[in-house]
Amino acid sequence: DYHIPVSGGIAKEPPMHIVHIAVEMAPIAKVGGLGDVVTSLSRAVQDLNHSVDIILPKYDCMKISHVKDLHYQRSYSWGGTEIKVWFGKVEGLSVYFLEPQNGMFWAGCVYGCKNDGERFGFFCHAALEFLQQSGFHPDIIHCHDWSSAPVAWLFKDHYMHYGLSKSRVVFTIHNLEFGANNIGKAMAYSDKATTVSPTYSREISGNPLIASHLHKFHGILNGIDPDIWDPYNDTYIPVPYTSENVVEGKRTAKEALQQRLGLKKADLPLVGIITRLTHQKGIHLIKHAIWRTLERGGQVVLLGSAPDPRVQNDFVNLANHLHSSHHDRARLCLTYDEPLSHLIYAGADFILVPSIFEPCGLTQLTAMRYGSIAVVRKTGGLFDTVFDVDHDKERAKAQGLEPNGFNFDGADPAGVDYALNRAISAWYDGRDWFNSMCKKVMEQDWSWNKPALDYLELYHSARK
Ligand code: ADP
Repeated sequence: DYHIPVSGGIAKEPPMHIVHIAVEMAPIAKVGGLGDVVTSLSRAVQDLNHSVDIILPKYDCMKISHVKDLHYQRSYSWGGTEIKVWFGKVEGLSVYFLEPQNGMFWAGCVYGCKNDGERFGFFCHAALEFLQQSGFHPDIIHCHDWSSAPVAWLFKDHYMHYGLSKSRVVFTIHNLEFGANNIGKAMAYSDKATTVSPTYSREISGNPLIASHLHKFHGILNGIDPDIWDPYNDTYIPVPYTSENVVEGKRTAKEALQQRLGLKKADLPLVGIITRLTHQKGIHLIKHAIWRTLERGGQVVLLGSAPDPRVQNDFVNLANHLHSSHHDRARLCLTYDEPLSHLIYAGADFILVPSIFEPCGLTQLTAMRYGSIAVVRKTGGLFDTVFDVDHDKERAKAQGLEPNGFNFDGADPAGVDYALNRAISAWYDGRDWFNSMCKKVMEQDWSWNKPALDYLELYHSARK
């Protein structure tokens, strides 16, 4: 069975030492969900009394103000250059920053250089060299996606026999779309492999890169960090709230959002969209949903940026159009803005995630934590976490949950309409029912409580 391992008895096991080698980490160097997961999974495992370290490139573009007590430790020579090692704390986690003096990570960005493959390959090798030279003996070396996949084979080819023999390699696929060659190779070389939801693990299990490794492949759902995403303790929203005062908390957040973006301050259903604007995220469905929401008299706020300049340009044009035709009901913020994302999660009634595919998806989980109702396409982790109020009562019950949102099949406008129309009608026709649903979703547990135990079980099984 390559799905969720059963967690049990793990609490009694002796502490392990886990080292993540990764190229993203929230909030200092986050591009997408991978960055969130490295931080929040590590915190959850550390909270269960295991020891966790993270090794990250020292980017010049890193948000250094979020690193506590950052200081230079030492340097070593490797790969024809000097590598400076810095140490600091991020969200309570110990992070080693590697800074090659050849300037490989002084590029102003995490991704987007022509030689990303070479840069991250170099980093992976340098990270293993650092572990070896520093006399670390981790139980688990955990690497992520194509970018730190090389750790799996570099370890087996070069380091396993010299000093790091005790370690086992765990590899997590956050998105199979990118860097297939690296992912296939890491699947072969790692001791255990995971991906970020049970449904996505099934969806990709027929892929030739995965199919011959199912015996060591598991789908473990991502969680969110309830301290990092906490409407009761969030400096970016006006009134702290829990499920007890969710209606008041969300009303004031909606007003603040409308005020900040220059939208009409009115009690209208508000649909929020927070996303990278790429094919994966269902761009045509997003556009359609914007128009549908406006037709239904609602407001729309989109926060998103496109790595592809043509897509970005297309949305700039759409924004110009909407900001004149519907200036008090639509706002497209075509940028990356963490503080604004918090206000949208809190102030929206609905968060729409119409992805074509979605390994796990964190936006729908964060939405629920803030009492917003998720409207999603039934794929990957969206299928595993959002249960339709009209169609998924039984499926939710099997997970010990009540239905918590709206979903749809298909990848055409009719699908989005089906879910969005029901959602918006529920808002207009039954505010009490709608409000009770906001309260209910806030009380569901999408943290790492359970998934962290699954990872520990997996780490243990890797060592057997
Ligand atoms: P992916 O990793 O494919 O981008 P996820 O749903 O796993 O998708 O994670 C996306 C994360 O990035 C979420 O934490 C979301 O809030 C955040 N995010 C996406 N776009 C933006 C943006 N434009 N501004 C701020 N945060 C964003």
